[in-house]
Amino acid sequence: MKGNWRKFWKRFTVRKNNKPKHKNTGTKQRGNTSMKIETASILGIPVARLTMDQVLAWVEKRITEGTSSHLVTANAEIIYRAYRDPSLADLLRQADLITADGAGVVWAAGQLKQPVPQRVTGIDLVQHLFTLAERQGWDIYFLGAKPETVQKAVLNTLSQHSSLKICGYQHGYFSKQENEQVMSNIDKVKPHILLVALGAPKQEYFIRELLTRMEIPLAIGVGGSFDVLAGTVQRAPRWIQEHGLEWLYRLFKEPRRLGRMMALPKFILAVIRQKIFANSVDKT
Ligand code: UDP
Repeated sequence: MKGNWRKFWKRFTVRKNNKPKHKNTGTKQRGNTSMKIETASILGIPVARLTMDQVLAWVEKRITEGTSSHLVTANAEIIYRAYRDPSLADLLRQADLITADGAGVVWAAGQLKQPVPQRVTGIDLVQHLFTLAERQGWDIYFLGAKPETVQKAVLNTLSQHSSLKICGYQHGYFSKQENEQVMSNIDKVKPHILLVALGAPKQEYFIRELLTRMEIPLAIGVGGSFDVLAGTVQRAPRWIQEHGLEWLYRLFKEPRRLGRMMALPKFILAVIRQKIFANSVDKT
């Protein structure tokens, strides 16, 4: 992997005079790097058109540079929420990279003729990052989930990645008053990677605030990933994931998610409207 990011990056960098392949494709340039990332604009949210390997190459570059980065893995639910909430949309647009977390986002990008190559979900990304971090000697901090869940997630991760450097962990049920202490604990150990599992968009707001106070090479909102790592939530079998039905499996396993999933048909309608009205993201 090391050294390969240049190769990956070269292929997906849009040079100054190159026109994007699709008329509505955007590019994003962040920080002090000269990187430009092709993005699909889904309801006004720029989703990176990168494979998992390319995202890992981006991560490696950002961490090597030491630049603070906020990576969002966005599913249809959060994109639709941002569509209805301009302050959340602004926050997401300030992130350094947004990946397509889920079949709904991949579907939307295809409909809008700005296809993304694959899903890059929080849990898949985290698993790949463990391998990369173990190799690179990066420190990782786990923040979020219930006390017993985050502890189990750390133990299970260490049992699979024995030389991974986990420099701290903290559950996600702290009060507003404890917020300062939680942030200062993270600052003390200065992780290369901070995984924040507080659920979306709470984790995104937390990360944004944290990055105004300290530099963290990579902070990622990872939703329910610690529950999966701890073994308290099972992922869908591979064939269900490959058919883009993981959301249905999750709904079947956790029917309490039904209310939240009602955003999905609304997301689909909004995307169709964006498609029909020449990729306008007008909410009227
Ligand atoms: N969580 C937390 N603190 C909170 C609310 C939620 O640590 O105040 C954790 C919760 O225990 C779970 C994760 O955040 O581990 C959210 O999981 P969910 O599957 O709902 O994530 P999403 O669907 O938003 O990715």
